[in-house]
Amino acid sequence: MTEPVFSRIAIIGVGLIGSSIARGAREYGVAGEIVLFDANPDVRMRAGTLGLGTIAATLEAAVDGADCVILCVPVGALGGAAAGAVPAMKDGAILTDVGSVKGEAARALEAASDGRIHVIPGHPIAGTEQSGPEAGFPTLFQGAWHILTPVEGNVPGAEDALARLSAFWRGLGAKVETMDAARHDRVLAITSHLPHLIAFNIVATAFDMETVERGEVVKYSAGGFRDFTRIAASDPVMWRDVFLNNRDAVLECLGRFSEDLAALQRAIRWGDGDTLMREFTRARTIRKAIIDAGQDSASVNFGRNVPKAEE
Ligand code: NAP
Repeated sequence: MTEPVFSRIAIIGVGLIGSSIARGAREYGVAGEIVLFDANPDVRMRAGTLGLGTIAATLEAAVDGADCVILCVPVGALGGAAAGAVPAMKDGAILTDVGSVKGEAARALEAASDGRIHVIPGHPIAGTEQSGPEAGFPTLFQGAWHILTPVEGNVPGAEDALARLSAFWRGLGAKVETMDAARHDRVLAITSHLPHLIAFNIVATAFDMETVERGEVVKYSAGGFRDFTRIAASDPVMWRDVFLNNRDAVLECLGRFSEDLAALQRAIRWGDGDTLMREFTRARTIRKAIIDAGQDSASVNFGRNVPKAEE
């Protein structure tokens, strides 16, 4: 990267995603000055200690003069953050976000917009179950998709703004795609939101059984259940906001999922091995397609180095 894409960026919300953007932007030279603000004074202090960039004392001071403002707060906090940021932003600057739900995010950002700035919602398909400024790392977005869901607007230079934001994310190592917000929310409901809901639920069920089985659930947790616990350790605020803001798409997926689960339940009850074989075989082909698309590793146990006896 010869020249930064943006002379100055403002990152609002310095958790896993915000701090990873700050680290990546510095490491790969895609931003000149990096200014950060978090509503939590303790997080501001920790972000300062980590040397992530200039820590602003207020939201307005952080966004003042920035070419691009990136909201990295939970989806439910986007409206308030956008409303606070927009009046202090310079004309023609870009307002974007990283929220996991795009329909509601776009509505929140657009409602705050005053027509002087470019609103381009976005979502990096990358993350971990960790939170906070210490959890971020510069390579988080390498090879990951970044989905932009531009909204209709007549601010001059909209195409150039989209090109610059795309270049910024490509500079962080991401593969950029534009998509309609509603389509994003339908796709993510099945690929991310429903799997998290299932993980939260199975861990809750096991938690209740743990009392009955006196510690045996944790003791023998391996393979499948352990992977669910990793997903279920994700931030409760973030996930509460995802389900509250992508309600329709999640409920649609959940309805289909419940029907399919009931079919498997019935097959088990009636000893219908053919149905079980057919469904499990079909599932393997999806796994193969994900590996062929380079979205995961084919290594045994996701490449984890775990002694054989644990399986
Ligand atoms: P996080 O680690 O919990 O960090 C969010 C930070 O924003 C917290 O420090 C929080 O402070 C702060 N904050 C909340 N409201 C604010 C406001 N109005 N103004 C300024 N700061 C505020 O969260 P994250 O995992 O980075 O997630 C951030 C966003 O990225 C979410 O919208 C999420 O949907 C999206 N996302 C997450 C992942 C993932 O894997 N984690 C992946 C892709 C996208 P408090 O903790 O004090 O509230």
